[in-house]
Amino acid sequence: MRVAMLSVHSSPIGPLGAEDTGGMSVYIRQLALQLVQHGVSVDIFTRKTSEPSEPIVVLSPTVRLIRIVAGPCAPMPKASQAAIVSAFADNVAAFAQRAGLRYALIHAHYWISGLVGLRLRSLWSAPLAMTFHTVGALKLRWPNAASVPAERLSSEVLLGQTSDRVFATTTAERADLQALWGLPAASVRIAPGGVDLAHFQPSDKSTARRVLGLPGEGRLLLAVGRFVPVKGLEMLAHAFRSAHGDSDVRLYVVGDDPKATAIGKRLLDVAQTDLMAGRLVLPGRVAHADLPRWYNAADCVVVPSYHESFGLVALESLACGTPVLAARTGCMPECITSAAHGTLFRPGDVSDLASTLANWRPPQTDQQQVRGAVASRGWSSAAEHLHGLYEALCSD
Ligand code: UDP
Repeated sequence: MRVAMLSVHSSPIGPLGAEDTGGMSVYIRQLALQLVQHGVSVDIFTRKTSEPSEPIVVLSPTVRLIRIVAGPCAPMPKASQAAIVSAFADNVAAFAQRAGLRYALIHAHYWISGLVGLRLRSLWSAPLAMTFHTVGALKLRWPNAASVPAERLSSEVLLGQTSDRVFATTTAERADLQALWGLPAASVRIAPGGVDLAHFQPSDKSTARRVLGLPGEGRLLLAVGRFVPVKGLEMLAHAFRSAHGDSDVRLYVVGDDPKATAIGKRLLDVAQTDLMAGRLVLPGRVAHADLPRWYNAADCVVVPSYHESFGLVALESLACGTPVLAARTGCMPECITSAAHGTLFRPGDVSDLASTLANWRPPQTDQQQVRGAVASRGWSSAAEHLHGLYEALCSD
């Protein structure tokens, strides 16, 4: 089976932590790589954003990233990319024709890719599966949501109702999408994310702190996320200040370069106040390869998001044996099911978050028990499940 994955606005090999490169990139890359176990090869099509750049990047013997010219070969705001949908689709179709390739299935990620997918479906007569990652109409329910372009809202209704299959990543998202677009249960399936269980492993906390140059003593909280409003990082800084204003607890917020974003700059301002000096620390972006050490150095990881469509960071932390204090959103309620795994609080509720931070104590459980929360959520299981969904769709 050969699958065309569409990831127009975000390259799955871009730097993680940047505004448009996060969990979706990890999801696409990992699933594409793992699908080899089921005889599936994948071409991932993304927009060419720089000149020069290799037109084709071989990620494995069965997975290629193909850069398609559509619009300027330069970064382009996500909001204006609907304008390049037809050029993108035409150039993907031309590529496939030149190479003599036929795709059994199109799997589009995010609504802009979905619009490309609709065009390719009519050219190729291949079924279209749609993973939204976020949906505008649901985003408007977040307490701090910015406005959503009308074109996105109407395109998502069209895609929800006309794709051959919609993939949600959690049971909650599935229920939301069914209710939103009046979809029958059979047309929305769950294709969850996963975690690299070999990469994210428990290790010795003191060693991790020493190697990272972090203080050996005192409680250490960690947050990992892109510096965008939905991640709730400013709310976390305020809750932390009220919960631990006079203690020796430290909070490290890893993600983007703090000086490069408005949120980062405001967090830096808080970090430079007398009360927070040396206790709210912003180390910048951390390479995915180095993140296990950070999770292992922390006593707990905090996920303060107003909304998560899935929430890979929580899975990565749990896989390292580090409990998670998380807003009740995305996969969090599915994974955090006992006090050993962590605690849930109301999304967007700063006082619930502050009291969670103030009351939480490290549990008397070993790292393996915490890891148990995600032991069955490796990427190979996620890919096996996705393959079943692909087969069902192709045989419909
Ligand atoms: N990430 C990273 N380095 C950073 C910040 C984030 O490698 O400095 C990775 C993180 O490990 C996770 C992904 O980016 O795999 C973020 O995924 P998540 O689902 O938590 O959030 P999203 O970006 O999808 O909103």
